[in-house]
Amino acid sequence: MLWILLSSLFAFLAIRELRSPWHKEHPQRIYLPYLLLVSGLSVAFAWPAVSTWRFERFLESRALILSEGRPVSVHCNTLFDTMLDPNSLAAGHANPQTGEIVIQKPWCSTLRDYLDDPEAADGRAIHSLNLFTHEVMHIRGVLDEAVTECYAVQYNRRMAQLLGVPAHLAHEHARRYYREGYAMRAQIGGLAGAYHSPECAPGRALDLRLPDSTWR
Ligand SMILES: [Zn+2]
Repeated sequence: MLWILLSSLFAFLAIRELRSPWHKEHPQRIYLPYLLLVSGLSVAFAWPAVSTWRFERFLESRALILSEGRPVSVHCNTLFDTMLDPNSLAAGHANPQTGEIVIQKPWCSTLRDYLDDPEAADGRAIHSLNLFTHEVMHIRGVLDEAVTECYAVQYNRRMAQLLGVPAHLAHEHARRYYREGYAMRAQIGGLAGAYHSPECAPGRALDLRLPDSTWR
């Protein structure tokens, strides 16, 4: 929001400079270096918001493929948004009624960094992939956290590929989340344990038997 305000301020200064030759009382020639400076600052301050907006639309387009036709909107919270979000303690949340997925700061940036360089993925990057897949599973109408997480585990491979991760890395990262991040939930127990189910394994009750499952 702050960046947009600054961008608007510099856009206003640029427009005012462009109109200066036609000023009624004090017409002046346009001072080109000043015009270029304020125009450049306006674009520079707008860029982070435009870039985030484009990333949100990209995530929406990928989420739509896995949402079984349900409408989806994705919002990457700024720090300010997170402070006002009643669910600020959750890394992300989704509302199947409205189709809205909200991802808290800094998880959108983590996911974007991962997609920019999947070769360099660490545990946190892979977790951001699972977070997004998990929220998309909620949009499908799955509300139980253990079931949602298990479906995300199985769809992570497909989601990574939809987001542009090369096939071999998509499979490797999805399997790694299942072996490490998901398994750790069972060890931690408590709230994290509520996202784990012993039925989430190949051939068990929660196996969706996807042709491109993480488990295959
Ligand atoms: Zn959830």
